Amino acid sequence: MKCPACHKLDTRVMDSRLIEDGMAIRRRRECTRCDFRFSTVEETEILNLTVIKRDGRREPYSRDKLEVGLRRSFQKLPITQDEFKRLVNRIERDIQITGRQEIKSADIGDILMKHLKRANQVAYIRFASVYRSFKDVETFQRELHSLLKPARQRRTAKPMADGPRPRLRTQSSAGGHNRRAKR
Ligand SMILES: [Zn+2]
Repeated sequence: MKCPACHKLDTRVMDSRLIEDGMAIRRRRECTRCDFRFSTVEETEILNLTVIKRDGRREPYSRDKLEVGLRRSFQKLPITQDEFKRLVNRIERDIQITGRQEIKSADIGDILMKHLKRANQVAYIRFASVYRSFKDVETFQRELHSLLKPARQRRTAKPMADGPRPRLRTQSSAGGHNRRAKR
């Protein structure tokens, strides 16, 4: 790693620590020539994952696309850069633990919704209304109603033990054998 100040290639790592729920490592470094201090962040990147779109076309997974969709849902809502990053990381972690090389865009959508629902309900409704396009008024009302229910229900929605919707149950049952496939 080049020193940003003097461009010498030799820097010393002062310390490193896990950040973003363990999805990234921050290293504090010091240049051995000019003592300039800086830090670097190493994060995981999803590789070799193909997304199968609704129309059957395939394309490589892209974090940028995920972020664009998320940002749209969070427009004008309060979320810090850090919170946003953590959210993206959590979503990607769930995508990764499926352990597959191909994933349907609908499955990514479900994972996204699961996390949005916990993170911000307005963003969730926004995303869901576009993504699910709430085919009928009843579906929309049902979703709204489940959100507006007292906290009692929400408290039971612990992380990882999610999924009143059948779609997600498929997801989590797949998680069982995939834990083995985790690399
Ligand atoms: Zn230097």
